[in-house]
Amino acid sequence: MNDPDLLRVGLGYDVHRLAHGRPCVLGGLVLPHDKGPVGHSDGDAVLHALIDALTGAAGLDDIGTLFPDDDPRYRGADSAALLQAAVAAVHGAGFAVVNVDLVLIGDEPKLRPHRAALRARIGELLGLPAARVNIKGKTTERLGPLTDGAGIAVHAICLLRAL
Ligand code: MG
Repeated sequence: MNDPDLLRVGLGYDVHRLAHGRPCVLGGLVLPHDKGPVGHSDGDAVLHALIDALTGAAGLDDIGTLFPDDDPRYRGADSAALLQAAVAAVHGAGFAVVNVDLVLIGDEPKLRPHRAALRARIGELLGLPAARVNIKGKTTERLGPLTDGAGIAVHAICLLRAL
């Protein structure tokens, strides 16, 4: 059994290219933007980073173990459904999510107009109030390969507590 006072921290990271003609699926929402993430699934880098943080904290390897990207069942997968399955796996491992914090790095899309909606949506998927979901955006300062909307990177951290 888990020690009821046991806390676990997890860290996740993901990056996806952005391309014209793809829906801008980020944080479980489709944002109004002319480019979206390219990927085997819907490319939702926010939720992928979050799933890696959760699986890492729970000692469940990573997103690729739960949902292999060469498995045709996950082609075009809805990452929101994958996140909910990951949360169920975290609960199955004996943990509840306390809070999550996210950093998005990229010049596009602008995060600020969507921040409240993203916090609410991610909280809904995690079963948490928006106050326990934080999300912040950073531009690239025109340095590096993510500049000018070429892609988006996401860092995620979460805290779990034993059930
Ligand atoms: Mg990904």
